[in-house]
Amino acid sequence: LAILGLESSCDDTAAAVVSMSPESSEILSSVVLGQDALHDAYGGIVPEIAARAHAEKLDVAVKQALFKANMTLGDVTLVSATAGPGLIGGVLCGVTTAKAIAAARRIPLVGVNHLAGHALTPRLTDGLPYPYVMLLVSGGHCQFLLVEGCDDFTRLGGTIDDAPGEAFDKSARLLGLGQPGGPAIERAALDGDAARFRFPRPLLDRPGCDMSFSGLKTALLRARDAVAAEKGGLTRQDRADLCAGFQRAVADVLQEKTRRALTEASRTLSEPPALAVAGGVAANTEIRAGLETVAGEFGVSFVAPPLSLCTDNAAMIAYAGGELFRAGRIDDMTLAARPRWPLDQHSPSLLGGGK
Ligand code: ATP
Ligand code: FE
Repeated sequence: LAILGLESSCDDTAAAVVSMSPESSEILSSVVLGQDALHDAYGGIVPEIAARAHAEKLDVAVKQALFKANMTLGDVTLVSATAGPGLIGGVLCGVTTAKAIAAARRIPLVGVNHLAGHALTPRLTDGLPYPYVMLLVSGGHCQFLLVEGCDDFTRLGGTIDDAPGEAFDKSARLLGLGQPGGPAIERAALDGDAARFRFPRPLLDRPGCDMSFSGLKTALLRARDAVAAEKGGLTRQDRADLCAGFQRAVADVLQEKTRRALTEASRTLSEPPALAVAGGVAANTEIRAGLETVAGEFGVSFVAPPLSLCTDNAAMIAYAGGELFRAGRIDDMTLAARPRWPLDQHSPSLLGGGK
C-alpha cells in the first residue's frame, strides 16, 4: 500500500505518504504546515481562519508530500483523512479533498479518528504489538486508552477539566513566561526547588484513572499572589520554585494514575500490557521519567515516539488508514466529517451497526 494521509482537524495542515506491507511500514514523507502566524493576533485559534487556511494549503501540503516521497498521485493506492473529532470546517476540508482524490484516481478512501491516529503511532514508529495502554497528553487531550486493535479502544479514564498542556500554558501566562508554556515551565523549573510550595495532587484520593488539572493552576495563582504580597514581587528564584512545584505535581499525578491504568488493564488481560505515550506534553523530561519508572515497576516496555510524531501530523493518519483498510474498512462518498467522535465508537461508515 502507498497511503496518502491528510490531517486538518486543528491548526496544522498536514499531508504524508506512508508505505505499508504486512511486514513493515515506512514514512516516505510528512509535511506539516502550521498556522501560528495567522492566529497569533487573536490569542487563540479562530475556527473560520483555520478552515480557510486549510482550504488554501491542503493541496500545497499534498504536492509537497508527494514530491518528497518521489511519487505522483497516480502511485497512491489508498487515501485517508481525519474525519473527526476537531474543528468542523477544517475536518470538512480534509474529508472533501480526500473524497475528490479517491473519486478522481478511483482508489479506496478511509476516514480516520484523529485520536486513533495518535493512539496507533507507537505501532508505526516502534512496531509495538497489541495490546498496550496509551497515555495521550497534549494541549487538548488527556486520557488513558487500552488499545487492543486498530478499531478496539477502551477508555480507562481521563481529565475531568483541563488537559495538562493547557494547564502548563495557562500557568506560564500567570508567571509571565512565554508560550508554549510547557517548555517555558520546564526550563524555569531546572533551577527550582519542587518542595518549597505545596501543590495538591488532585483526585489521587479517589479510585480510578480520572484526573484533574485546573486546581493546580489555581494553586499556582494563590502561591504566586502570596509571595508577591509578602515581598512586593516575584524573584527569578520564586518563579523557578513555583514552576518546579507545579511540574512535580503534574508528573506525580500522571505517574500514579498510570499505575492505576496499567493495574486496571491487567485485570482483563493475562499480563500487564506495554505502556506508550503521545502528545506534546510527552516531551517533558520529568513526566517521561515518571512514566518510564512505572513501566519498569510492571516489567513492561515503554514507547515514546519522537516528538514530531507525538504532535499533530498526517503520517499517523496515513498509517491508521492503512491498518483500518487492511482490517476491512472502506468508506465511500457518504463519509461524514464529525466535530465529536469518541474513540470507542466505530467509524462513520459503520455507525448504526453497533460495536
Ligand atoms: P491536540 O493535538 O490535543 O488538539 P495541541 O495541538 O495543543 O492539542 P500538542 O501539539 O500535542 O497539542 O502539544 C502542545 C502542548 O504540549 C502545549 O500545551 C505545550 O505547552 C505542551 N508541551 C510541549 N512541550 C512541553 C514540555 N516540555 N513540558 C510540558 N508540556 C509541554
Ligand atoms: Fe492531536
